[in-house]
Amino acid sequence: MPLKRAPDAVVVGSGPNGLAAAITLSRAGLSVTLFEQAASIGGGTRTEELTLPGFLHDVCSAVHPLGVASPFFLSLPLQEHGLEWVHPEVELAHPLADGTAALLQRSVEETSTALGIDAAAYRRLMGPMVLKWPVLAPDLLAPFHFPRHPLPFALFGMKALLPANLLGRLSFKTPAARALFAGMAAHSFLPLDRPLSAAFGLILGTLGHASGWPVARGGSRMITLAMASYFRSLGGEIVTGRDILSLGELPSARITMLDLTPRQLIALGGAALPEGYRGKLRRYRYGPGVFKVDWALNGPIPWIAEGCGRAATVHVGGTAEEISKGESEVWQGMHPERPFVLLAQPTLVDGTRAPLGKQVGWAYCHVPNSSTFDMTERIEAQVERFAPGFRGLILARHTRNCAEYERCNPNLIGGDINGGVQDLRQFLIRPTLFSPYRTPVKGVYLCSSGTPPGGGVHGMCGYHAATYALKTT
Ligand SMILES: Cc1cc2nc3c(=O)[nH]c(=O)nc-3n(C[C@H](O)[C@H](O)[C@H](O)COP(=O)(O)OP(=O)(O)OC[C@H]3O[C@@H](n4cnc5c(N)ncnc54)[C@H](O)[C@@H]3O)c2cc1C
Repeated sequence: MPLKRAPDAVVVGSGPNGLAAAITLSRAGLSVTLFEQAASIGGGTRTEELTLPGFLHDVCSAVHPLGVASPFFLSLPLQEHGLEWVHPEVELAHPLADGTAALLQRSVEETSTALGIDAAAYRRLMGPMVLKWPVLAPDLLAPFHFPRHPLPFALFGMKALLPANLLGRLSFKTPAARALFAGMAAHSFLPLDRPLSAAFGLILGTLGHASGWPVARGGSRMITLAMASYFRSLGGEIVTGRDILSLGELPSARITMLDLTPRQLIALGGAALPEGYRGKLRRYRYGPGVFKVDWALNGPIPWIAEGCGRAATVHVGGTAEEISKGESEVWQGMHPERPFVLLAQPTLVDGTRAPLGKQVGWAYCHVPNSSTFDMTERIEAQVERFAPGFRGLILARHTRNCAEYERCNPNLIGGDINGGVQDLRQFLIRPTLFSPYRTPVKGVYLCSSGTPPGGGVHGMCGYHAATYALKTT
């Protein structure tokens, strides 16, 4: 369908970053049209009936510590457009083989006290970061720059640069505290003996105390539905079912924002991109992928450990050593026998997602990039280990491997859900060192999680990219 008039700006992709860019440009007074290849908007925030009627499953993201804390989201009236964060009683539970669980609670005090002899160490590690989070957030959730608050940033950086295994061992004595930290650090997708893997444990732990690990009532789709509704209220236009295959297909506009990862830009840009820049994009690396299972369940998961039934997120993987072994194996191209499983049970706090008395379960583990290996049995065995009887509750299941994910959303290259590896090199060079959002094509910018600050539902890549575009175009 032809557009009513040529817009000032166009955006390709309706993930949280595409919508964040579109909103930022609209707020600056530009007319904006957004194109999405799928039939519905949302990218990594879709919610669908994947198993049985009445069971709503988050296809991708489920838990949103970065979303609720995002300085950009906080600047938007998303509540007025239908978004409601729902907080569990316990932010995160990490069951252990002895029938207990380490719990991340909103209060640093309660979390640390439950860690026994590690109580003081936990308070020392997390306490200062939680206090400083309001000044740290704008520096951390941004492209690399000289920090506005150098001292707290440097104190964070000294620990964050360490491998998670090392920081866990230096900080804690108990298996419970070490496992809790390792599970959070494993969100990095990095082997836990690699530099910077500790950063993810520190940030996610801090967020647990500072603003929580909530889910969105009605499913993660409510985040981008609220963003789209606000965008339309500003006059923005959204066109779905439009797969953009080259830059030449787009209406000419002052600004073009691409919610795409570097490899996709090579294809879209074609000969318009100078060879030097194409080389940089080709050197950009993608990391492990995911294998995911969604369950329709006949009731709550029967965890042995108290606390797991009060948390929307459960890290299933046992000790820090087990988690570290599994994550390293994935980087060696192997499929761990006992994978680290990230599990969400959102119906415990959001009854709108399943028929009365029933539950949905969401879980994934890391696998080598592009893997098509079926991890269902291994994921379910891990859950059964800490919740005997779990399998008996399964009414239906839906699985998706790396290749299937990439077919649904071309941004998920080989099943990589972060838009590229998030190691030290690609923390600095994402995908270029200076002006990471700018491309050599005049007026064309990257704004996806393949730019700083990287993966997760927070919209900060889109916000920074659009702000940069407004300043420089
Ligand atoms: C299984 C899974 C679990 C996750 N869990 C969490 C979680 O719990 N919490 C969290 O914060 N994050 C999570 N994430 C990560 C999060 O979803 C992503 O980091 C986030 O969605 C990235 O946003 P984005 O806007 O950069 O890209 P995306 O959300 O991927 O959006 C890109 C959009 O561009 C569209 N597109 C691509 N190519 C074209 C084209 N040529 N033409 C038109 N449109 C195109 C795609 O269809 C898509 O809609 C998860 C992701 C997955 C897959």
